[in-house]
Amino acid sequence: MTQQDLSKQIKRRRTFAIISHPDAGKTTLTEKLLLYGGAIRLAGSVKSRRSQKHAVSDWMEIEKQRGISVTSSVLQFEYNGYCINILDTPGHQDFSEDTYRTLMAADSAVMVIDCAKGVEEQTKKLFHVCKMRGIPIFTFINKLDRAGKSPFELMEEIEKVLGIKSYPMNWPIGTDGDFKGVYNRSKSQIELFSDGNHGQSVVSSIVGDVGDVAFKEHLGEQQHQQLMEEIELLDMAGDEFNLNKILNGQLTPIFFGSAMTNFGVQPFLESFLSLTTPPAGRTSNIGEIDPLSNEFSGFIFKIQANMNPTHRDRIAFLRICSGKFDKGMTVNHVQGNKKVRLSQPQQFMAQDRVIVEEAYAGDIIGIHDPGIFRIGDTLCHLQDKIMYEGIPVFAPEHFAKIYAKNSLKRKHFLKGISQIAEEGAIQVFKRPQLGVEELIVGVVGALQFEVLEYRLNNEYGVEVVMNQLPYKYIRWVEMENFDADSFGVTMDTLIVEDEDQQPVLLFQNEWSIDRVKERNPKAVLKDISSRR
Ligand code: GDP
Repeated sequence: MTQQDLSKQIKRRRTFAIISHPDAGKTTLTEKLLLYGGAIRLAGSVKSRRSQKHAVSDWMEIEKQRGISVTSSVLQFEYNGYCINILDTPGHQDFSEDTYRTLMAADSAVMVIDCAKGVEEQTKKLFHVCKMRGIPIFTFINKLDRAGKSPFELMEEIEKVLGIKSYPMNWPIGTDGDFKGVYNRSKSQIELFSDGNHGQSVVSSIVGDVGDVAFKEHLGEQQHQQLMEEIELLDMAGDEFNLNKILNGQLTPIFFGSAMTNFGVQPFLESFLSLTTPPAGRTSNIGEIDPLSNEFSGFIFKIQANMNPTHRDRIAFLRICSGKFDKGMTVNHVQGNKKVRLSQPQQFMAQDRVIVEEAYAGDIIGIHDPGIFRIGDTLCHLQDKIMYEGIPVFAPEHFAKIYAKNSLKRKHFLKGISQIAEEGAIQVFKRPQLGVEELIVGVVGALQFEVLEYRLNNEYGVEVVMNQLPYKYIRWVEMENFDADSFGVTMDTLIVEDEDQQPVLLFQNEWSIDRVKERNPKAVLKDISSRR
């Protein structure tokens, strides 16, 4: 393949994640993007794909029982010459750590906000992770077909609560259940949508200049007048469009629409694809790696065991960061210091899992993991030895003591705990003086405890007892010559160590965190660990 063809393939890739608080419409929007991309014919099939998926290949009954999507996958489809990778993330907030890691593999994010609810708790957390990475964040304000907050109010909320300036790319015409279309600010055009069939298929639209008298008649004098006034206000008082700021994550372009009725989905998709970035360079131990480089490289951002219960397999999800991947290729697993042949790579198309023959920077592939990979590991061209920046370990918020009911099962128990920890589903801590005699597990969402218990029983044949602990906050300690005995903590603080033997503090309240900071001015307390 020539360098030119390689560049062309990579430059047309758009890899992003959709983030939202549960129920804001992430699934619906994803499905509509697939619909517009021609990857599915009728809306509704993503949900049925989910139930089908549950029946055949889901690795965990819990998903079925609770009807929630626990794991994330990747969807790839084509649209207007673009090759789109949507990183799908778990719907339930208890699995948000998985989402945080998935965001490490994305080049940009789409933030879906419910127009009636505004910025919600989970949106804030996920936004924070995107902000940390400095990736572009696009906002889709959803459910405009229903009554909600005013568009101006929503803009203000985004700025106040999230601390990011916004630029509406379009403006809704008709709110509070009377949503008719959008005004496209860059083209000064009105786009009116017609009813369609409840969002099942693509809606048609009438597009024309805002000054066109036909629109005045269609909208009525009053609505047209109101629109003109709002546009004027936006132009005068709003922030200016600035592509650089968008690409640096300092300004979020806002789109208004309704994923359910498809209104505004196409204008969003087209504008988003043209503004957002193709795969960007990523930082490694030898500097930034150019995605257009001829040499293949990528990192593992997620490991998922037992996706297929009949095979008990482990899949590592690899984000390709540079060059081209060919099936069967032998690469260097840098952290493991070993050559590995990637023989059965899988890709996750809109509907199915398929064996992939070739893939490019920006794509995500699933590779078989015989238990050798860890999250954050780099795979690269045989002659290279690059290591991409590690994936942060996010702060667990729930902690429990855990042990096997039957002490004869201890070996299985420890194996299960360590494998599940390698997947990143739990974090394991020990008290230095007790070692493995007493294990403490930390999770980001409480539901993960149930998953852990279920999986230890189901996959490793171990019944466990778990006692929840009152700790809510974790801080990794960075300081020279840390000494647990002389380190000043409050009565209710626990000193433990993580899997890398780094000192960690568990707190019950924020007050104690402040006290400990005061007493140990030389220690730096961090709520994200970047060691991995
Ligand atoms: P998720 O939890 O963010 O994935 O949200 P879903 O896509 O599952 O949507 C949650 C609920 O909101 C579902 O009942 C959807 O039908 C509904 N919904 C999604 N988009 C819209 C919209 O544009 N308008 C209205 N009225 N409802 C919507």
